[in-house]
Amino acid sequence: MNCKVEEYIIDEFLQTKIKVYTIGEGKPKILITGGIHGDETTGIYVAFKLKEYLSKRSVNGTVNIIPISNPLAFRSRLRASPVDGQDLNRVFPGNPSGSHTAKIAAKIWEIATDADYILDLHCCGQTCYPYILAIHEEYDHVREYVLKIPLPYVVESSGLRGQLFIEASHQGKPAAIIEMTGGQGIYNPETAEMLFKGVEGLLVNLNILEGEKSSLKPKLFGKLKPIIIESEGFFKPKIKPGVEVGENSVIGEIEGVGEVKAKIEGLICRVRPPSYVFKGESIASIAVKIS
Ligand SMILES: [Zn+2]
Repeated sequence: MNCKVEEYIIDEFLQTKIKVYTIGEGKPKILITGGIHGDETTGIYVAFKLKEYLSKRSVNGTVNIIPISNPLAFRSRLRASPVDGQDLNRVFPGNPSGSHTAKIAAKIWEIATDADYILDLHCCGQTCYPYILAIHEEYDHVREYVLKIPLPYVVESSGLRGQLFIEASHQGKPAAIIEMTGGQGIYNPETAEMLFKGVEGLLVNLNILEGEKSSLKPKLFGKLKPIIIESEGFFKPKIKPGVEVGENSVIGEIEGVGEVKAKIEGLICRVRPPSYVFKGESIASIAVKIS
């Protein structure tokens, strides 16, 4: 299918341009964004792969893809804008006459308001297991949407305002983030493959792409909580992220001090690599089990 590209100039002087790729036409419309945080490269990589792949497929409806949503942050390999220091995913719906970052947000928001579904691709660090992030506990329309993404886990977002998916969810739009392994300019090829399949599966479940529907439905979890340690020393992890644990499960140990336990039931999303840790620091993130 034909892939059209449109370029929006955000700032003439700084040469900030947002490139939007469009495959197909009509409804339903899905907007897929990558690189809202400039250094979260796995999402950018997958967004480009999707654009290539969908250009060769027959699409029912419209897929809008913005692989690099924050071009100058991407060029600088930074999470936030090198121009004004703002985090793009804190300023939605943006302001067309505001700061550089607010102007980018306003343009993306304009495209988002025209979409029926929003999927925003991010990275959660080098030691994290991929998960979908959404306010599924708050809204039925969001829960129904994320259950159509054939990836293993969904975590409830903190709901911090100014994020594209949060503002869109409050507007009644099905919206979510997918957090993947990667970040700081590094992409993770295995996670990218998993994510690509997940997005393709979502497009099939939304009838935008033809194909066999996956039977995989993600499992829903509550918000992320840090596992804080009360002593210091050399921490050694004993489990990998992406596993479900019980209250007494051992996460790792601090040499000469003892084991560190989960304390709550849930899904381990991130574990700190072997490192020297100080009292009060987080050694892992756990998404709380919900009944
Ligand atoms: Zn991010």
